[in-house]
Amino acid sequence: MDETILVVEDERKIARLLQIELESEGYRVLLAGSGTEGWSLYGNGGVDLILLDVMLPGISGIELLRRIRSTDQHTPVLLLTAKGSVEDKVSGLDLGANDYVTKPFEIEELLARIRTAFRLLARADKASNDADIGAEWLEAADLRLNPLTREVRRGNRVIELTHREFDLLAYLLRNKRLVLNRDQILAEVWGYDYAGQTNVVDVYIRYVRKKVDEGFDRELIHTVRGIGYVLKDLP
Ligand code: CA
Repeated sequence: MDETILVVEDERKIARLLQIELESEGYRVLLAGSGTEGWSLYGNGGVDLILLDVMLPGISGIELLRRIRSTDQHTPVLLLTAKGSVEDKVSGLDLGANDYVTKPFEIEELLARIRTAFRLLARADKASNDADIGAEWLEAADLRLNPLTREVRRGNRVIELTHREFDLLAYLLRNKRLVLNRDQILAEVWGYDYAGQTNVVDVYIRYVRKKVDEGFDRELIHTVRGIGYVLKDLP
């Protein structure tokens, strides 16, 4: 294993600790002490994953994430966030961060998240290699989603979704008529192996509903009280 991890963290003690732990796991590590330095190291290429502190002097972690995602949807980005509020995490996730870890974090948990991110990346690469040109549309009633081209339509209307919203809707569609609980959704769409933080699922269901169901005669995404959600094309 010789994946390169870019660590963007202005607190030197944490940065050093991360470097030692990551190198002992066999990763190559690049350290950046500011958003500007992170952007420049990232620009040199060869970075396989980014650990990104949100609170940075100069360019913030969120701004750096925005810049990276404007051209690169591929490289996993894990946020290190000192704040506990769902909104901060959600805004990071909405901008295309793959995961986040709240400080203070357990190093073992962080390492597990990194392994998960690499595993999901490998799976996504394989899936896109396997996908046939003109993949099948997933359908429910007048809603259609193309996993390959990432187009979504309801009736004649084109629906614009963020990366994560798309993945969530695709998962619901692949399992239409099945009631899915929040832990399942979190595991499949966000790649978490454990329970907790399921309120992120509720937030995203709300976003997707707004775009997919609002203003249409029939709602497709339903809440199943005490359990989770289901996408239904039958009354
Ligand atoms: Ca910081």
